[in-house]
Amino acid sequence: MIIGHQRQIQLLDLHIRTDALSHAYLFTGPRQVGKMTIARRAAASVLCLKRPRGVLASCGTCQSCTTLASQAHPDVFELSPGGGDAGKAPLRIGDIRDLRVRAGQSAYAGKKLFFVDDVSHSTHEAANALLKVLEEPRGDTVFFLIAQQAQDVLPTIRSRAWQMRFWPVSYELLETCLVENYHILPASAACAARLAYGCPGAALEFCSLPPEILKK
Ligand SMILES: [Zn+2]
Repeated sequence: MIIGHQRQIQLLDLHIRTDALSHAYLFTGPRQVGKMTIARRAAASVLCLKRPRGVLASCGTCQSCTTLASQAHPDVFELSPGGGDAGKAPLRIGDIRDLRVRAGQSAYAGKKLFFVDDVSHSTHEAANALLKVLEEPRGDTVFFLIAQQAQDVLPTIRSRAWQMRFWPVSYELLETCLVENYHILPASAACAARLAYGCPGAALEFCSLPPEILKK
């Protein structure tokens, strides 16, 4: 589930429903604030074959939704430095070459969606190669670029992306959500919300819940 960020998700939903998605989005904000969760929810909504009513909604049962849930959707490509491992190596030019090949292929159905996590953590060559990919927009591709600080991303990449900033959510909202949706004791929820500085993924970790639970 998505905790907070109503303005951003309403805008993304509007882009999807009016077929006005940008070629690239740059989501910035603190770690575990919800950037990738929202990018994935947007992707699910874009690809869902039924797309029910509701903000960034997807049915969860159609072929596209189930394939996406099993991380086997042919139109979704995710790249993160070091393959998501701890002690991350930066994104390298070879990673971007793979992405470029995928971006040049036609979508199986509708749109192709690319996630690039920690986009600021890349070699100079990789950043420039990514810029080249972004300079060759295809109508059926959407990039979600994720970073903590916008100023750490090449200005030329920033200028080609729709920038969305994500701030920590209020402690009150986070506490309420932890209590009502995850059955955390109120005192523990209050503590977790503050220790996490309003970042939902971190708060769930403090409650010993895996952040992946937000995908549901
Ligand atoms: Zn669906």
